Amino acid sequence: MTTSNPLRLLVIGAHPDDCELKAGGLASLYREAGHQVKYVSVTNGEAGHQQLSPSELAKVRRAEADSVASLMGIEYDVLGNRDGQLQPTLEARFELIGLIRRYQPDLILTHRPNDYHPDHRATSTLVCDAAYMVIVPHIVPEVPALRVNPVIAYLSDHFHRPRPFHPTVVVDVEPVLERIIDQMECHRSQFFEWLPYTLCQEDTFPRDAAAERAYAREFYEQFNGPLADRYRELIIDTYGKKRGRKIRWIEAFEPCEYGSPLTEEARDRLFPMLP
Ligand SMILES: [Zn+2]
Repeated sequence: MTTSNPLRLLVIGAHPDDCELKAGGLASLYREAGHQVKYVSVTNGEAGHQQLSPSELAKVRRAEADSVASLMGIEYDVLGNRDGQLQPTLEARFELIGLIRRYQPDLILTHRPNDYHPDHRATSTLVCDAAYMVIVPHIVPEVPALRVNPVIAYLSDHFHRPRPFHPTVVVDVEPVLERIIDQMECHRSQFFEWLPYTLCQEDTFPRDAAAERAYAREFYEQFNGPLADRYRELIIDTYGKKRGRKIRWIEAFEPCEYGSPLTEEARDRLFPMLP
């Protein structure tokens, strides 16, 4: 489907697969409606494997990101910063400012600043530090500045300190659940090799395509499942009692105060799939 005035969604995660896990449903709904999506991994993903060397893994993960890009019909940038070593440097900030300006997003999604992974925290800092600066022409003068600061929202997480995640937007992603699993399956090195290793599940490694899909789905449902119950009130406010009580898998988003305000008008425009 195409639309004459497509929205532009930019999801900025620290690693190849962060965007898919936290916003792969919204991205799928955007694509179904003919809107544009770009995923960015701020690091090259070279650290997440128990056997492959960092340089081998970086190539594998670039290829996995490419397969998500063709599956979804989206752009997917994997930046060259080293996985597990990301710092919110000026150089990295300027690279993101240039990237955001060139893409001209209506909505940016990224991690919150409190998160277990140092690369997620650094990514959040980088995006927050790029906000507003994207409209300042003397900063990164070689790429024309935006006139309007985009709306920025945080991806969900379950951390409580210093402040728990507080979404104002929830999206039912069950209609595109298979599409999310399809994206996860592209990241073979992560969901079928590294993840079972980190969970000490070597003996239950998926052995064939059906077992792989079941493994990815089970992980996603466990990972995402608690969100719907945690934000049930907001889901019912959004979707009404009848549908809202039954929704099982959602993606949730919290406005970042450094972007343009996520007003009710902006919410209706940027999340056109909501009732
Ligand atoms: Zn990550």
